[in-house]
Amino acid sequence: MAPTVLLVEDELAVREALRFHLEHAGFTVRATASALEAWDWLAGVDAVVLDWMLPDQPGLKWLKRLRESDFASIPVLMLTARASEVDRVEGLDSGADDYLTKPFSSPELVARVRALLRRSKPQQTTLKHGSLEVRAGDAQAFLDGVKLELTRREFDLLGFLAANVGRVFSRQELLDKVWGLDFDGTERTVDQHITQLRQRLNETLDQPKFLETVRGKGYRMRVQA
Ligand code: CA
Repeated sequence: MAPTVLLVEDELAVREALRFHLEHAGFTVRATASALEAWDWLAGVDAVVLDWMLPDQPGLKWLKRLRESDFASIPVLMLTARASEVDRVEGLDSGADDYLTKPFSSPELVARVRALLRRSKPQQTTLKHGSLEVRAGDAQAFLDGVKLELTRREFDLLGFLAANVGRVFSRQELLDKVWGLDFDGTERTVDQHITQLRQRLNETLDQPKFLETVRGKGYRMRVQA
């Protein structure tokens, strides 16, 4: 399905030129001169191209409101005639993902919208190990089709082991890979999370189906028959 771009620009000539180029590049385009109207058109939008100076509401204000809404994750490229460093910083600070100063070339804008969509697209990788399913895209895991209630860290740990099935990782390696190098925890943290994950997965230390303790070494995700 073609990605949908919402174009909010009050200058008719610019709006129509951008609409033409975006449609030519395969996007579905919704275009409006009104920030307030644009607000009603957000459902199903994949990216927004937003002018800074709009007649009914400043682009920046609209953007701040967007970032506090249910549509906060939609990437936004801001257009502006202002080129000063201060404005640039202000635009990015208020939640713009990219920035283009007028005059700009339409092909450049199209290329930047494409880049925004590439960056924002979640990885839809799904890993399946027997009855366990791990979805990287929406950070969810399922056991026999039933969604597991996991904390973000539990999911990250499960996802990491599932992505490296059969490989043994020491507790320190797991801390580095899953918690990050600047995390100030101990190896006990890993053990606690493994214990919690085992409960979620309905398995025991003695007969693990998925999370195996390798004595003196660490943990691994078992290869499923
Ligand atoms: Ca304008």
